[in-house]
Amino acid sequence: MPTPASPTSPTIFTRIIRGEIPCHQVYRDEQVLAFLDINPIAPGHTLVIPIEPAATMDALSDESAAALGRVLPRICRAVCAATGCADYNLLQNNGAAAHQAVFHVHVHIIPKPAHAHGHGSGLGIDWPARAIDHAAAAELARRIATHL
Ligand code: AMP
Repeated sequence: MPTPASPTSPTIFTRIIRGEIPCHQVYRDEQVLAFLDINPIAPGHTLVIPIEPAATMDALSDESAAALGRVLPRICRAVCAATGCADYNLLQNNGAAAHQAVFHVHVHIIPKPAHAHGHGSGLGIDWPARAIDHAAAAELARRIATHL
């Protein structure tokens, strides 16, 4: 079971940032690092992480979030150019129940190869949607807004 990031138990991504564990680096600046996922679900599957060791997105500082957001489109373009994939997904998991395994914020860039099936075909999505209840939604939107 993975444990949250803490000063005494650095995650594997903090150890990569420190250079203690190797990675296939594609980008680095003072606030952001990007490298290839070690178990890709498509060729070019890339992880983009803040240097700041926040465990989940809601814990990330505005400064690191801005740095991450600023560079993401550029890295997406580079992944697309290198893989020849025009289509791709961004995935960002928070919490064990939401499939987060490494408790250091990371954005997956996952190319979606055309006509690929099975291994290496990119992200498959279960999307259990149904029509919104507008009365409940109005109240929920108001409640979320009060927390901002
Ligand atoms: P998540 O389920 O969103 O927490 O995804 C964590 C990702 O980190 C997985 O896709 C792993 O394959 C990847 N990963 C774990 N260790 C390493 C590593 N040492 N280098 C590169 N990617 C890694």
